[in-house]
Amino acid sequence: MKKAFVTSLLFVCFGLCYGTSVTVNSSDLGSEEKQLSDSLGVVKYKDSWYQVGDTIFGYKKYVYLVVGDADSPLFLGAPHDGVAVGNPPIPETGKTGRDIATHPLVNAIATLFEKDTDKKPWIIVNTIHRKRVDPNTYPNKVDGRYTDADAKATYMSYHELLSLGRSVMAERQKGGKGALFLDVHGHAHKYSDGLEQEYESVVTGKTKLSRFICQTEIGYALPNHALEQPDAYLDKLADSSSIASLADRHPDVPFSQLIRGPKSFGGLLAAENVTAVPSVEIPILDRNKRLFGLSKGKAKRRPYFNGGYVTRKYGNARIGSTTGFDDNIIAIQIETPGINVRNNANIRLRSSHQFKRAIIEYLNSWMGYDFPNSRYPY
Ligand SMILES: [Zn+2]
Repeated sequence: MKKAFVTSLLFVCFGLCYGTSVTVNSSDLGSEEKQLSDSLGVVKYKDSWYQVGDTIFGYKKYVYLVVGDADSPLFLGAPHDGVAVGNPPIPETGKTGRDIATHPLVNAIATLFEKDTDKKPWIIVNTIHRKRVDPNTYPNKVDGRYTDADAKATYMSYHELLSLGRSVMAERQKGGKGALFLDVHGHAHKYSDGLEQEYESVVTGKTKLSRFICQTEIGYALPNHALEQPDAYLDKLADSSSIASLADRHPDVPFSQLIRGPKSFGGLLAAENVTAVPSVEIPILDRNKRLFGLSKGKAKRRPYFNGGYVTRKYGNARIGSTTGFDDNIIAIQIETPGINVRNNANIRLRSSHQFKRAIIEYLNSWMGYDFPNSRYPY
């Protein structure tokens, strides 16, 4: 009976297919069954059990999932840092460049996070160049774009593994504190017309000049125009966001505070000296002719990415063409600048601490965790 139950549970867990929400219904799973499943491993994939720290390879090893602790409150994504072309080569079907060094950034954040919390984050990685396979492709574009069989199988495999890891977390967090899926990207947003602006180097503290906009863009799947609006407007949009369940848990906090208050993710990054938008420092997507140029005679809005398909799908959005899950695993996209977050190991040595600090503070502030959060070692 016990074995049959666990087997049927596993069938539900791992009979995943693209486009189907993962439902793991084991709320009535007894403690003995739980112990049995725990003793076998954290997660089962294709007839094998995997332990914390194991890597589950997907289609042709083009994508993989690093297994975290079942009760880890952090899942990190690196969808756009791949350089592989595949064998045979997967044709290029997109034009956008790679998010350089987001994968080592993710690894550095994960290492620091585990040191402080003793919880290993889950990590999902796409090793294929995004011009060939982009996990952020919307489902209605998949068949049209990925006519190559390997391209489609790789895309599906990424989502299968991401769903698998997320389902383990969601099951463990049922009735618990919740968790954060952070999809990590890199942008190359520039000022208008070759204009350079000052920023403070995260490595030396000295003022430098760059044509790139030194800002980390925090995406919650909210429309860009909404971030030009006053708080009263934003306060009504919780159900459109990838952090809807967090808003539910804090009914007394205006939603705009979750998006641009001092304890918002951007606000907590700003507290670590990371320029972030939205945040207290840059609460709205401002329009500025000198900095961002003109469009049809009107000053352009500050460049900003609001969150792709993955952020929408694996968070909690309830409104919109892509909706997420009705659980306590929220999703946030971060679009980081190369100049002060990713470009080399010295930069990442420092930026990874800043991001780790903000993540732990965020979990402690909003989800009721009480993790230690170490200071910079310098
Ligand atoms: Zn990206």
